[in-house]
Amino acid sequence: MNRSHFCARMVVSWVAPILVVVGAGPRVQAESAPMQLYVDASQVARRILHVKMNIPAAPGRITLVYPKWIPGQHSPVGPVADIVGLKFTVGETPVPWQRDDVDLYAFHLQTPAATSEIQAEFFVAGTSDESGYLLGNSSAPDQLMLNWDQVVLYPLGPSTDTQMIQAQLTLPPKWKFATALPLETQTGQVIRFKPLSLTMLVDSPLLAGVGLREIDITPQGEPRAHRLDLAAESEAALDIPASVIASYRNLVAETGALFQARHYDHYNFLVWLHGTYEDGLEHHQSSDNRLPEMGLADSDWRLLEGDLLSHEMTHSWNGKYRRPVGLATENYQEPMKGDLLWVYEGLTNYLGEVLAARSGLWQAEDYRDRLAATAAELDHSPGRTWRSLEDTAISASLLYGSSTEWQAWRRSTDFYGEGSLIWLEVDGIIRTQTSGKKSLNDFCRAFEGGSSGPPTMIPYTFEDLVAALNQILAYDWAGFFHTRLTSLSPRAPLLGMENAGWRLTYTDVRSELDKATEAKHDQLDMRYSLGALIGVNGKVLDVLPGAPADIAGLTPGMNVVSVNERQFSPQVMHEAVRSAKTTTAPLELLVTNQEQFLKVRVDYHDGERYPHLERDPSKPDMLSKILAPLAPPQ
Ligand SMILES: [Zn+2]
Repeated sequence: MNRSHFCARMVVSWVAPILVVVGAGPRVQAESAPMQLYVDASQVARRILHVKMNIPAAPGRITLVYPKWIPGQHSPVGPVADIVGLKFTVGETPVPWQRDDVDLYAFHLQTPAATSEIQAEFFVAGTSDESGYLLGNSSAPDQLMLNWDQVVLYPLGPSTDTQMIQAQLTLPPKWKFATALPLETQTGQVIRFKPLSLTMLVDSPLLAGVGLREIDITPQGEPRAHRLDLAAESEAALDIPASVIASYRNLVAETGALFQARHYDHYNFLVWLHGTYEDGLEHHQSSDNRLPEMGLADSDWRLLEGDLLSHEMTHSWNGKYRRPVGLATENYQEPMKGDLLWVYEGLTNYLGEVLAARSGLWQAEDYRDRLAATAAELDHSPGRTWRSLEDTAISASLLYGSSTEWQAWRRSTDFYGEGSLIWLEVDGIIRTQTSGKKSLNDFCRAFEGGSSGPPTMIPYTFEDLVAALNQILAYDWAGFFHTRLTSLSPRAPLLGMENAGWRLTYTDVRSELDKATEAKHDQLDMRYSLGALIGVNGKVLDVLPGAPADIAGLTPGMNVVSVNERQFSPQVMHEAVRSAKTTTAPLELLVTNQEQFLKVRVDYHDGERYPHLERDPSKPDMLSKILAPLAPPQ
């Protein structure tokens, strides 16, 4: 919002090779050959990648940089600390490098006379740290998800849209691969891709492995190929019910019916089924989806993560094709501004969930259980009274990596879940005020659809968003969003859900979603009873300020050892909270606080409480209309 109306990169296409234009300063030569990138993944079982590059350069001082701000992660998390063995040469001559003493991602070099090219060599030495998209969490003995930003250096200066690069990858014997990248040649395990912009290379991860399976999910009549590319280490992980495959085919059809244009030539869902990580990273014509081994085969996982692929695919329109100006940066060193993440991620969260229901990946009840869980969490976040939703977006890069401990007080990346509530409200306002003639679908078509074609990006401002909504329905959208974004009310914005005919309620009955969360995420959700989130191992993960557990002194990081003098287990804990309803004595928890034991007495007697949506018969059931498929089933 604080940047000028359209920046110079209003529309950028990355398909046709573009000759680099030299301005004052940049050291990339005009009409030079593309950078050459050689990645050897032969040692990936040891989490090692060997990288060599040939980078066109002129004699003199040059700064080469390693990507820092990673698209989709909205954070400065490029793993520069994992780079080892860095060396530069020009011809046979070693060239010393000096790291910038402020920007630790930048390397300064002085190249000799008659230099036309620098050779760079380094290794990415991944660790066993199983977090995020680090190589350690993207490599296994039999599979690899390669994110190219981790294996490149590039000259600081020109936009990455105009820096051309050609990549070559060597895989271990018998490995197969899947990627949206255009292939030039393959000789045995050496794969050479066509030259393209650095932006497009970084936007096109590659999934490889021994047990790679490809499933065509292109709907009938759809000219663009859509594929599920799955990598797993067991056959059981690939034993996915035919009805689930059909739902993914429906998803492709539903996105076509919603946006009525596609900004890619083909689409690959790259699905990594290994480890414990659950997340996804969006790209124009593919997505990097991370699930545990049984993530697609197991019904509990499908309940928990049924909207992962629909979320990531939605980003091809909302996030990639249309992008907030603060996230439409020139290169990977320019800091990103997250102030509009409640659109980039918030609208995607809403659409990803709605599309999961429209596609049959979720039943309507599954969608409602998710919405109830989201609404309850946001409605029990005391952090709402000091931190606005807008601030969660602005400080996203801090919050992505923050702990669950004191999360309700700190707030988290709430622009995802609260986005679902707010965009449902927007959808409802449009439907109600136009007597059902228009909906958010019309806005998606107009703002995110446009004309089909290859990957293209159009940045937008808050004002552009408001103007586009006003084209669908004249309304005080600026005032509406301003109120939602700056509110310090302790209550979550539940009006959209309520106007759609459903209200939040709490009962002692656990939803299937809650049971799956406890089984797979190892958490007992007692936030709406005691006011605490507790691990199945007894570790206190969060405590809600002002709730009975907080008043009693329970603190995140403590470990519950016993409950009413019985050894802690999830069953013992559930039973103790249930039976406290008929007693006046407080629940007595023996806990460890670092090396000390202490007793915490929680005076709570209202039994177990879990969130649900219940139908409000006084209003039409607009929610069910929203969840109805737009496309015929595949
Ligand atoms: Zn997202």
